[in-house]
Parts: sequence; structure tokens; C-alpha cells
Amino acid sequence: MKVTIYGSGYVGLVTGACLAEVGNHVLCVDIDPDKIARLEQGEIPIHEPGLDALVADNIAAGRLAFTLDPAEGVRHGLFQFIAVGTPPDEDGSADLSHVLAVARTIAEHLDDYRIVVNKSTVPVGTADQVRTVMADTLAQRGAPVDFDVVSNPEFLKEGAAIDDFMKPDRIIIGTDNPRTAELMRALYAPFNRNHDRVMIMDIRSAELTKYAANAMLATKISFMNELANLAEKLGADIEHVRQGMGSDPRIGYHFIYPGCGYGGSCFPKDVKALEHTARQVGFPARLLAAVEAVNHHQKTRLFDKIHAHFNGDLQGRTIALWGLAFKPNTDDMREASSRTLMEALWAAGVHVRAHDPVAMEECTRLYGSRPDLTLCQDHETALLGADALVIVTEWHVFRSPDFDLIRRRLKTPTLFDGRNLYDPQYLEDLGFAYYAIGRGRAE
Ligand code: NAD
Repeated sequence: MKVTIYGSGYVGLVTGACLAEVGNHVLCVDIDPDKIARLEQGEIPIHEPGLDALVADNIAAGRLAFTLDPAEGVRHGLFQFIAVGTPPDEDGSADLSHVLAVARTIAEHLDDYRIVVNKSTVPVGTADQVRTVMADTLAQRGAPVDFDVVSNPEFLKEGAAIDDFMKPDRIIIGTDNPRTAELMRALYAPFNRNHDRVMIMDIRSAELTKYAANAMLATKISFMNELANLAEKLGADIEHVRQGMGSDPRIGYHFIYPGCGYGGSCFPKDVKALEHTARQVGFPARLLAAVEAVNHHQKTRLFDKIHAHFNGDLQGRTIALWGLAFKPNTDDMREASSRTLMEALWAAGVHVRAHDPVAMEECTRLYGSRPDLTLCQDHETALLGADALVIVTEWHVFRSPDFDLIRRRLKTPTLFDGRNLYDPQYLEDLGFAYYAIGRGRAE
């Protein structure tokens, strides 16, 4: 089958590469000339495990190509996937300008039936807007061309995106047209062989399902963070509590890790967007507002602990920071907790010596070369001359570090652990002042 994908970011590129891998002919369209030039050379602008080989193989096999020309894109694929960004607007709503720009562009070049598949995360009612924009553009052109709009939200996780796309938990297809549903089912058949994971539903339910899933996951995290903060006040250890809770199969162990807040390109913006959608229809989504507020507070907790430990005397200090990405196995720093922390440390006059296995380039892109930031080539170098170590991202390489070396390199053996990686007793026995999240240390 022939597929066109608008947007070559995390979602568009993974979707394109995976659809090509199973034999389709995929053309990826983007508006960023630099990105397209790099992709044409087989250079992947993002860090996603396995993606470089998948893209290179499929370019070589002639099944995957890139272009800046949307007219070529509209001609190419029966399926026209929209996978562009939907960043948050100032009021928390999802900014649909990129999605609607693609819809307009498709309609400007449309001369035959196409299925427009919305893969971006968009509020309920966006498919209607896409349809209206396309119909208006076609009417202006005097071109009565037929098309369908489908909602097909994406559930992949950065860092495991290829596996998630190849072996999805579910494939949600929102459409009001049974013929389109069958064509979509056929496109996804290679990813749906083991048992049927395709769920066909109305468009609005499909659009809402994506927000509901992300809001649920964010709720689990904020709930655990709320409990962690309470555990600290009560002198309990949230890690024991977590295991005790998770053993109940109705609760389960997944996604109940407390920490220094959730970030990334999805949870923060999707919770805000769903809350905004609710407000628009006169429904106050109280729980969503609380999930967001708890997370906002949680992202400040590491700084508060550092501030308290040094009795507010932070000016001129140096902090070693391990982990910049919002989670392991990605270079994505959108809304990362590391950013909240670094910005607070800088405002307090602290020098940050940071290391991340893959997000250093992204950090330089975001912050340039600041005099109060040193990006170190490895995590052990980051320790040199620092007053304390802070861990923000739970990369594997940080899980069993050389504590003797840490103790020798830090001015004082002080460790703030935003991901509860270590045993507090063990660290205390080694002579560390150890601060984690929710582990019985009242402030
Ligand atoms: P991204 O920012 O990585 O990529 C978006 C791409 O779209 C960029 O390359 C940009 O240049 C391109 N673009 C913008 N306007 C365009 C246009 N008019 N025509 C063609 N290309 C255009 O975004 P992403 O992380 O891939 O997210 C895309 C959507 O998928 C968002 O709605 C997001 O919420 C959703 N989503 C993301 C993830 C994730 O983990 N990143 C997971 C599931 C769903």
C-alpha cells in the first residue's frame, strides 16, 4: 500500500519506518528542510533505539523516502497520515495550527479520493475541524473530491517506540465509514496477527481514548507522588508502600513509581488539553486539575530538598546532575524535570555540571553555552568539585554506580535521588546524606 506521512518527528518517523518495514511504500513529508536533508542521508535527528537501522534499511529497499513537497505527498498515498505536533497553547489547549495546516495543504492538492488519518493527539472534535477545513479549501478550488477523515491515535512510548508500533497493545480506529474501517484494518493487518487488537469506534471516542489513557497514567504518577510526600511527613517509606499496593492485582505494579514529577511531550500537555476541553463544555475536571497541580509541585521538590540541606546557602555552589532527558532511552527534554531543577539552581546562583547518555546535544540546543552549565562527557566527570549529586533520570548506567568514587569526588557526600534508585540504609552506612522521594525523612 502507499502511505504518506506529514511530520517526521518521533511519531511520524517511527510510523513511516514501521509501515515501510512490512512492505508498504511510504513517503514522509516535513516542512523542516534541515530535517529532510539529514533524513535523506540516513541521519536520524532524534534518539530512538533501533530507528536508524530501520530507516536506513527501508531507504535502501526503496520503500521509504522523504520530501519537502506536499503535492508529491498528496499524489503518493491513499493513506495520508497527519503526525505533526500539537503543542500546548498558553491557555493549555492543544494548538491545532499544524494539524489544520496539513489538512489545508492536502485539500489544496487533492484530485482523487484519499483517507486522511489523524495520528496526532488532538481534542475531541478535531476530525470535524479537519473535515471542514478540507471541504472549504476544496470548495474554494471548485474541486468536489471525496475524502474520509479517520482518528487513529498513537500510543507508542519514546525509547520503546518501534516495539510498541510493531506489537501494539491496541490499534484504535475512529471512523463512521465501514469501508474506511476495512482499509485501515488491512493496513494494520501485519501488526495484528497474534490476536485482534483493532478496535473500531466512533471518531469522538477514538479522540478521547488517547487523552483518557494519558490522563490515567499521569494520575497514577501524581497519586503516588502525593502519597510519597505524605509518607515523608509520616516517617513511612513509599517504596514499601508501593510494593504493598502493587501486589493487589486490581492495582498492579505498573506505573506507580514515585519521583520528581512527570515530563515529556505528552503527559503535561495532554492533561492540560483535556482539562481545557472539559472547561469548554462547562465541566470542571477537578481531578485533572489536581493531577497537574501535584506534578507542578513535584518538579520543585528536588530543589526544595537541596535548598533545605544547604540552609538556603546556595550561591556559588556546584551541583552534579545525572540525567537530563525526561525519561531514559530518549533525548527528549520537553517539560523534563531536569529543566525545572536546573533553572531553579541557576536562579539561586548554582553552577550545574550535568551528564546525560544521549540528551547533551538537545540540552545545548535548548540552553546554548551558559557560563553556569558544564556538560560533562561522562557521569563520573560531572562529580568533580561538586557539593552534591542529584539524579533526575533513571538511566540504567546510574543504577549501580561506584559510590566510593562518588564520595571521593564530591566535596561532601550528599546525594539527592529523584528516582529512588538506592537503598537509603546502605547509602547512610556509606556515610552519605541521602535524600530520596517519600522515604521517611521528615523536613
Ligand atoms: P515532533 O515535534 O517530534 O514532530 C513533529 C514534526 O512535524 C516536526 O518534524 C515538524 O517539522 C513537522 N511539521 C510541523 N508542521 C508540519 C507541516 N505542516 N507539514 C509537515 N510536517 C510538519 O512531534 P511528535 O513527538 O512526533 O508528536 C506528534 C504528535 O503525536 C503529537 O500530537 C503528540 O502529542 C503525539 N504523540 C506523541 C508521542 C511521543 O511519544 N512523542 C506518542 C504518542 C502521540
